Amino acid sequence: MVNVLIFGPPGSGKGTQSVRLAEKFNLTHLSTGDMLRAEIAAGTDLGRKMSSIMSKGELVPDEVVIEMIAKKIDSTKGNAGFLFDGFPRTVEQTVALEEMLKRRKMKINSMLVLEVDHDELVKRLLFRAEQSGRPDDKDPEVIENRIDVYKQKTEPIINYCRQRGIYQPVDGMGSIEDIFGRLAGYMKKIK
Ligand code: ADP
Repeated sequence: MVNVLIFGPPGSGKGTQSVRLAEKFNLTHLSTGDMLRAEIAAGTDLGRKMSSIMSKGELVPDEVVIEMIAKKIDSTKGNAGFLFDGFPRTVEQTVALEEMLKRRKMKINSMLVLEVDHDELVKRLLFRAEQSGRPDDKDPEVIENRIDVYKQKTEPIINYCRQRGIYQPVDGMGSIEDIFGRLAGYMKKIK
């Protein structure tokens, strides 16, 4: 099993690239953002509780996403591994993921970090808002808050993973195809 974290600020292209990478390498794509949006779309209690947090660009509680991920891991069979997108987002979530994988005789094999300029991030998110209709993409203030939350709460995971020798930065600027080529190149080197 090969388990990979795809990492980077909001708008860095994690979702776009994850779908392609998962297909090419037979990995199961697990996006906590997509799972949460599915709860909202289905009108569940959980979805209702989480939607106001998400529309402000804040993080939902760690327990919520940790439980979602654990359930998905346990219900997936016959895959070559998992591609985690938008999870973990805090060091606490990272520790929980490591423990979860360890209990199942797995580990995090690599963390691929997409590096994108700040102005490009804002541009991509505002453009995406026109198509996706995501409320958290429409408002420039919410976008800035999401980037700040990333810097404060999520970026520390990079150091944590660097110490484990699994950190791999990737140039996230350029065309979707070029970035995919770079990511696929690193995927092939993962052991
Ligand atoms: P982005 O495209 O901004 O990276 P996502 O689709 O991954 O966004 O997530 C959208 C929102 O869902 C986040 O801003 C946050 O409110 C919530 N969310 C998603 N994943 C997590 C997580 N692992 N921990 C806490 N909140 C999360």
